[in-house]
Parts: sequence; C-alpha cells; structure tokens
Amino acid sequence: MKLPSRRIFTLLVALAALGLFLALVAYRFLLPALSDQISDSNRPIYQWFTDPASRPSLTTRLNATACPGAPFILPSDGFIGLLWNDPAAPYTVLATHTGIDIFGDGAPGTVPVHAAADGWLTRLPEWLSTVIIRHDDPLQPGRTIWTYYTHMASRDGTQSFVAPAFPAGTSERPVKQGELLGYQGEYAGVGRAAIGLHIHFSIVLSDEAGFFRNETQIGNTLDPSPYLGMRVNVLDRAPRPIACETS
Ligand SMILES: [Zn+2]
Repeated sequence: MKLPSRRIFTLLVALAALGLFLALVAYRFLLPALSDQISDSNRPIYQWFTDPASRPSLTTRLNATACPGAPFILPSDGFIGLLWNDPAAPYTVLATHTGIDIFGDGAPGTVPVHAAADGWLTRLPEWLSTVIIRHDDPLQPGRTIWTYYTHMASRDGTQSFVAPAFPAGTSERPVKQGELLGYQGEYAGVGRAAIGLHIHFSIVLSDEAGFFRNETQIGNTLDPSPYLGMRVNVLDRAPRPIACETS
C-alpha cells in the first residue's frame, strides 16, 4: 500500500514543529528549573552586588595561605560565587562553569591574585587579562596540570592588570606559590560585555602533546576542591562563605 506523499509530508512537518516546540520549552523552562535545583549561586551573587554591606559575611579570606593539608592556595580573597560545574546563569546545565569565580571587594586593579602553587607561567601573546601556570599534579605525581587565571584587565580592555613581570608572550617562566600574578578586573574579552569584578580560576588538563586543553569545556578541567581543601564543587552545596574543610 502507498500512503499519499502529501499526507506524509504534512505529518513530518507537524512532528518537526512539535519537536522544536518541546526543545524550546525545555531550554526556556526545564533547564533553568533544573539548574535552580542544583545551584543557588545567583542568589548570593545578586546580594554581593546589590548590598555591599553583605560582603564581609560572604567573603573567604585566607591571605594567600593554604587550607590545612591542601597543596594549592586560594589565589585571591573574596566571595567564591560561581562554583565548579555550576549551572547558574549565565551558565546552563548543558554548559556549566569550569572553574571558580572569586569576587573581590575593592576597585578594579587593586585586589591581588596569587599563584596557587609553584610552576611555570605562560601568557600567550594575545592574552590581555590571562595567565596560565603549568604544574606537576601534587595529587597525581607525574601528571601535568595547569592553573588558569583570567579577567585581569580594565572594563574597557585598555589596561591589563597582569603583573609587569609577565608581559604578553611570556613562556614557561618559573613562579613560586603566592607570587603576585596581577589584580582582579572586569574584562571579559573582545566584544563581550564587561562583568562584575572577579578572578576566574580553574584547573586544566593537558592534551597528548602536553599543552593545556580548552579551558571552556568542563571535561577538560578538574574539581579544584581537593587542591584547595575546600568544597567548591557545586554538587557539594557548601554553605557560603565557603571555608576550609575541617574533616
Ligand atoms: Zn568564571
């Protein structure tokens, strides 16, 4: 038997429209609802920016010292707002946050950022606000990992806040844990809207050639929690401000 091709065509168009509709509903409503189940990060971030009096109560202050037993120091003091694997806006459950965002309480260019551990620093020629440090993984000796720091430039991108010791084009310069890398800024990249003052910090895996992988994909990054000695994995739902683990 042979169905009329026009009827099949109409059916296919209707199915495609239904699929598109369901996808839009999922994207607009279901994914944000799921995100809200996983993360409440946007609530304290909103509080941080709208109620400056709340800032001391949200701040993690370690003054470039490590949590007990942790190999890395928190690279900057401030409110640890967006967490690792966080789906809170502007991220989604399909594209989660690959590091931690530490929001400093101060003017752009004044909140220091420190090297999380000893290593070798690279700043690619085109990097205005970013440095990356290569380390031997303290938790898995023999493996190479990287710590990545970005947003160290002025809002309009006219001024880099990276320390003068690391000009663009720096390659494999030895640095010590705690060494000043630069200062927090509000720059988010060419053609992208400026952001609230913070440092984005992530731990990045190497590729087969020993170079760092694309930091914007969660699968290329590691949960910083065991390195910092604090629960910064969004699934841990640690109370704010996030503090050193006291197990
Ligand atoms: Zn970030």
